[in-house]
Amino acid sequence: MEERFYYLNREPSKDGFRYVHAYECELKPAPLYQIKLGFFRNSQEILKEAHKYYAKVALCQDCCPIKDEVTTHAFLYHQNKQLKSSLN
Ligand SMILES: [Zn+2]
Repeated sequence: MEERFYYLNREPSKDGFRYVHAYECELKPAPLYQIKLGFFRNSQEILKEAHKYYAKVALCQDCCPIKDEVTTHAFLYHQNKQLKSSLN
């Protein structure tokens, strides 16, 4: 897979997640809200870097290399719910 530059949106979306976008994505955040994550080839590396900034991060489904369930929004949502319920 080709290496691309990714940004994290500093501003959370309505669902509470902050989304990662590639440099080329037309949905990428305005410069004021961009956190520069760097160059990555796969979604695991992107998420690892993004999690250093915020706990609730997800990948833009338009531009990010989403190949499996592990990195989809639905999976992360499910994972967060499990985390919460395991704390109770
Ligand atoms: Zn995007």
